[in-house]
Amino acid sequence: MDKENSFKREQTSHSHQHNDCISKAKTRFLERLRERGKAIGTNDEPVLNLLLSNHGIFSAYDIAEKISESGKRVRPIQIYRSLEKLINLGLVHRLSTMNGYIACFEDGECATGQFFICTECESVKEIDSQLLDREILGSAQENNFSIASKNIEVLGLCGHCQHTSN
Ligand SMILES: [Zn+2]
Ligand SMILES: [Zn+2]
Ligand SMILES: [Zn+2]
Repeated sequence: MDKENSFKREQTSHSHQHNDCISKAKTRFLERLRERGKAIGTNDEPVLNLLLSNHGIFSAYDIAEKISESGKRVRPIQIYRSLEKLINLGLVHRLSTMNGYIACFEDGECATGQFFICTECESVKEIDSQLLDREILGSAQENNFSIASKNIEVLGLCGHCQHTSN
């Protein structure tokens, strides 16, 4: 991630009340842990906090670097373990097209896995269309196809970057 991108990302985060997004997501995090009777691992909270700092995409390498900067050295394997746990709790999503991870800021279950990904500032919007979801499930049934992952990652430019590119 270069300087310019992180600057743009900053702007994207501050064009709305991002603190509200953070506190909502944190409440959800604690609820999920309680529901599933899971304890917080040492790296889980720092990893989540970093992901929650904006709506952008982080690579596991980025995360390991950033967390190591704040003191103790963490290895990518530890980061992957925390990410796996946060994904299972429904608080983080993996984006295979970008080879990275984002925090989930949605309410409730968020099981559709549909994303608009800005390739310029790497911000992500979840679209959560029940209509699309039903179409895919229906079509899979018609085709006798057993779905392992139904994530849809749509790449393009966000509203902000459409005006600032060129
Ligand atoms: Zn936000
Ligand atoms: Zn989500
Ligand atoms: Zn953008």
